[in-house]
Amino acid sequence: ALFYRQLPKVELHAHLNGSVSSETMDLLMKRKPHLNIERGMTAILREQRRSLDECFQVFKVIHQLVDSGEDILLVAKAVIQEFAADGVKYLELRSTPREVTETGLTKQIYIETVLEAIRQCKQEGVDIDVRFLVAVDRRHGPEVAMETVKLAEDFMLCSGGTVVGLDLSGDPTVGHGKTLLPALQKAKNCGLKLALHLSEVPSQRDESELLLNLPPDRIGHGTFLHPEVGGSDSLVDKVCKQNIPIEMCLTSNVIGQTVPSYDKHHFQYWYNRGHPCVLCTDDKGVFSTDLSQEYQLAASTFKLSAEDVWNLSQQAIGCTFAPEPIKQKLEKMWAELKQQIL
Ligand code: IMP
Repeated sequence: ALFYRQLPKVELHAHLNGSVSSETMDLLMKRKPHLNIERGMTAILREQRRSLDECFQVFKVIHQLVDSGEDILLVAKAVIQEFAADGVKYLELRSTPREVTETGLTKQIYIETVLEAIRQCKQEGVDIDVRFLVAVDRRHGPEVAMETVKLAEDFMLCSGGTVVGLDLSGDPTVGHGKTLLPALQKAKNCGLKLALHLSEVPSQRDESELLLNLPPDRIGHGTFLHPEVGGSDSLVDKVCKQNIPIEMCLTSNVIGQTVPSYDKHHFQYWYNRGHPCVLCTDDKGVFSTDLSQEYQLAASTFKLSAEDVWNLSQQAIGCTFAPEPIKQKLEKMWAELKQQIL
């Protein structure tokens, strides 16, 4: 277990509000006792299984607890510190900007506050490089998506390189990606990198076919892309030819039951083909996990050697949206730590 914690890691798929630890949740619950929210409502234990729909219900509860600028600052700082303590050296955090009239929260303030949290952590010497992906919730439709892209573009230009891309997420059973194409295309044209949740559920095959033409710079989950699970050769071809890295979240997919068990996770399919796979947490708070745990799970399930694990974490550097000098800095860090840890 020490090896996995010491292993330098890159986290590329972490939703802010899904990443809030139980310690921070306790603090928020104390601040807002009138909501009558208890521990079991904001996190799912590793042994439990839920439907995807039930998982999304959990976010509704968390959003009630995190609804002001002050809350956002608190959770963002804590999440960054926790990833750093777990040995994550580079983090791309993603979150959906929200407005809450009662607390004066606007989407603009939401993003500014996340960026402020990143700044404060840096100033306090937390040993981690953090970037931000602005998230589009597919449930909110094309107009909101377009607004969010404009906001993301503004912040990309004025955040000194911290805002690097756009995420597409939210309940995969709601809406269709084709209505979001103009917004995604605009994001791409203005230089935002695209990290899109694709084929998280089987019914998204046509949508993935369409979105892969953009193409995205990274794929979230991609659970149902390959023909064995109802995807298609054409989808696999597109992903392989364009060499699009896939962010994989083992615990999240098993708890949410989009994959039946750890050993049936699609990591196996893509890893065996030598395709770039990046292990990620998705929602470390909701799914009671951390990135060290995810690496350990992958290693034990798929019989990876220490060297394999090391290569997996190193390969993730190339899949980041970081500028080239940062990638080189990370490569150097990995090279220096290698003798010490491996
Ligand atoms: P937030 O964007 O920081 O508020 O993080 C929570 C949000 O992330 C949820 O409301 C969803 O929109 C999104 N999200 C978290 N996990 C998943 C997932 O597994 N699939 C799709 N969307 C997700």
